[in-house]
Amino acid sequence: MQPSKTPMLTRETIAQRVGELAETIARDYADKDLLLLFVLKGAMVFGSDLMRLLPGRVAVDFVRARSYTGPNSSGRVRLLYTPTAPLADRHVLLVEDILDTGRTARFLEEHLRGYQLASLRLVTLLDKPARREVELTADYVGFTIDNQFVVGYGLDYDEAYRELPAIHVLENGKTG
Ligand code: 5GP
Ligand code: MG
Repeated sequence: MQPSKTPMLTRETIAQRVGELAETIARDYADKDLLLLFVLKGAMVFGSDLMRLLPGRVAVDFVRARSYTGPNSSGRVRLLYTPTAPLADRHVLLVEDILDTGRTARFLEEHLRGYQLASLRLVTLLDKPARREVELTADYVGFTIDNQFVVGYGLDYDEAYRELPAIHVLENGKTG
């Protein structure tokens, strides 16, 4: 398995869309202090680009959950890291790389509801709605994509390819 030679989403296309998302989010939170919660590790690249386009006061913390062990989701979610920042009364925006079955984001949303947040919303760079197993819609979506396994721009295959600047479909090397 290896990344497609031609990107599915080029770095220019991604940058353009992240800029649009930042504009929308900046408008929606114009009078509020925002706490971005990056869902590690996949969202670190998207989150870093997004946060630098947001004007005003933005704090960052991290959550880490695992529901995935390869191209097939196991369906179970475990929490590996929780934020150290106090969450009560904060406007929290959960930053995801991709929504697939929806189980990870759903689990994190339910977990975070225990913290008396001022508000909770979800932004995801990529969305694969065809794969959804639990009801979940993101408040902000970068790109809706087909049911293909993608890598790059933070997204990995067994920890490889996160460093690629564009997003590629993972495909069987023999066809390339
Ligand atoms: P979910 O809980 O929504 O099924 O899965 C969420 C997690 O699965 C994502 O945060 C990501 O880590 C992983 N995942 C789902 N689809 C893909 C994909 O196409 N590529 C990669 N690299 N990871 C994926
Ligand atoms: Mg992830």
